[in-house]
Amino acid sequence: MTRNADTLFTNAIVLTMDEKLNQYDPGAVAVKGDSIVAVGNEAELKREFTAKEVIDCGGKVLMPGLVNAHTHVPMTLIRGLADDLRLDVWLMGYMLPVERQFVTPEFVRLGTLIACAEQIRSGVTTFNDMYYFEDDIAQAAADAGMRAVCGESVMKYPAPDAPSYDDSLAYAREFIKKWKGHPLIVPAIAPHAPYSTNPEIIRACVDLAKEFDVPLHIHISETAFEVENMRREQGMPVIPYVKKLGLFEAKVIAAHCVHIDSGEIRTLKHANAGVSHNPSSNLKLASGFAPVQRMLDDGLNVGVGTDGPASNNDLDMFEEVRLASFVAKASVNDPTALPAATALLMATRMGAQALHLGHLTGSLEAGKRADLILVDTSPLHNSPRFKRDPMNAYAQLVFAAKSTDVSDVMVNGKWLMREHKLLTLDEADLLRQARNFAEKIDAFLIEREQSVLSKLIALGGSMEEESFEVQVKVKVGEPSLIVQNLKRPEIEITAHKHYRQFDEYFLFDDPAQGRLRFREDNLVNEKGDVVNVRARLTLLGQKREGEIGHDVLLSRSRFLAPATQTLRFYREYFKPKKEISVEKDRLRWHIKYKDTEFFVNLDEMKQPAMGTFLEIKSRTWSRKDADRKAELASELLNLLGAGSAETVTQDYIEILAA
Ligand SMILES: [Zn+2]
Repeated sequence: MTRNADTLFTNAIVLTMDEKLNQYDPGAVAVKGDSIVAVGNEAELKREFTAKEVIDCGGKVLMPGLVNAHTHVPMTLIRGLADDLRLDVWLMGYMLPVERQFVTPEFVRLGTLIACAEQIRSGVTTFNDMYYFEDDIAQAAADAGMRAVCGESVMKYPAPDAPSYDDSLAYAREFIKKWKGHPLIVPAIAPHAPYSTNPEIIRACVDLAKEFDVPLHIHISETAFEVENMRREQGMPVIPYVKKLGLFEAKVIAAHCVHIDSGEIRTLKHANAGVSHNPSSNLKLASGFAPVQRMLDDGLNVGVGTDGPASNNDLDMFEEVRLASFVAKASVNDPTALPAATALLMATRMGAQALHLGHLTGSLEAGKRADLILVDTSPLHNSPRFKRDPMNAYAQLVFAAKSTDVSDVMVNGKWLMREHKLLTLDEADLLRQARNFAEKIDAFLIEREQSVLSKLIALGGSMEEESFEVQVKVKVGEPSLIVQNLKRPEIEITAHKHYRQFDEYFLFDDPAQGRLRFREDNLVNEKGDVVNVRARLTLLGQKREGEIGHDVLLSRSRFLAPATQTLRFYREYFKPKKEISVEKDRLRWHIKYKDTEFFVNLDEMKQPAMGTFLEIKSRTWSRKDADRKAELASELLNLLGAGSAETVTQDYIEILAA
């Protein structure tokens, strides 16, 4: 008696990618509903099955669809926007500001549909995403007919879909509830990375993942910089840190894992965590070489991912698999490392296992979902074909096949592409919409790049400070005399601090842009130890700092922002024409004189050695008040024994620049 099937694929080179890497040539696959019901020799299956539709595969390779183990699909819309930059400048300077401005449900939906079109064309049937508005991404992926793990991002910064992480977590809970149990979509939670979250966020994400039994997707140990920071701040590498927070209680999918040691690999293995290796992204951002062969030797499930299309810049899994193999060989100087069959396994069955979807997809086996592709291996660039060694078939696919050789794609028993024609998506319409977005984003960045101020504001956290100040500055020959005179009974000292200040001034072509100062303030205690360090960015002179009347009254408007990134980051982001470094030792007193508050700074200029300067300052609000304070400041100069010194009207940087 024969069995019924909906579709019987015949005349194919069937690569099952199952446990035994069974191949059938000529082979056949029977599909019923959403699942594979049989895989085997063509003759046997033809005898066994009566099918509504029999597909003659014409000698093409029939294999499981590829699994893209880590990506951010909506970023197709910002592909090629900013390249050849370091990760922090790329992310904090370009991606996040553009995302804050443009990422909406409409944006992610379009970006996802474009990514689905590209991925279907390159034989991908399952992808693992991490982004914002993941509900819209899930809907777009389901509309396109693809299988996806959709991870809602949670970060400690405001996100396009949530002003705070509490909102992200609330969104994620509703999102997971809505999609749990969907035939194509697996909802997930995605704390972005240990450095962009905090222990509270990680803990809450683990609890949510456990409550709904969904995967937890996170970036781990992508750069050496990340690991160095973690060692400095927490005294341990990244994986022990997240383990301490309980991360591995969840079903983890860890993207990157470039800088991890053998102990960390064992921790991942014990936790049954999946890893996504992303060779293009790691190469392009010069993140390093992940120890892929060691992870595989230790039995970890390692998949292959494209990462987001802004850091790759495409979603071509054929290219990714080839690079995975090449990079593994080159990085350990061993051509036998990561052979073709293993590389292809990482992009199919093992990739599915890394996403905790091994029971559903990743190989052609009865009972699994019908996620399969046809690849033409007869074109010129892939001919001829050798049959002597079964491994030749994998080498053909990994080392010579191109994504454009994929002709047909089926997901969950439904056709998404037949003979190179997409069935669920309108490519021309998607491209037209993408061009519209690109024009808007271009205009936004062109405007932003016009001024240092708008670039500073784009980084977030900056504020304008407008103040009117009375200020006198003189050069002093004998600083100890000033310190001594500050103890005079007419002067009441309310506070005293000692700083070592390291200033880096960025100067630009157009002086109207102002000067940007990166200042690191080291607070020093009586013993001379540094007890606190803080860094700030200040944009000076962007608006005119006017003198009203004589040389003591200044109105100034400046923009301040905490400097959360390194000096190197700001240098690469603002691209100054010139830099000037100033180092000084500042003794600062907050005093009261005749019931009026003043700040007194005694600055010993260390680098360059320019001597010592005395500054007396006070905030003011009216012309009359300013006149009175200017008079008091002159009295103070006399009291401090610096009355005869010539006043200096320039800032230190102006003296240096001149
Ligand atoms: Zn990523």
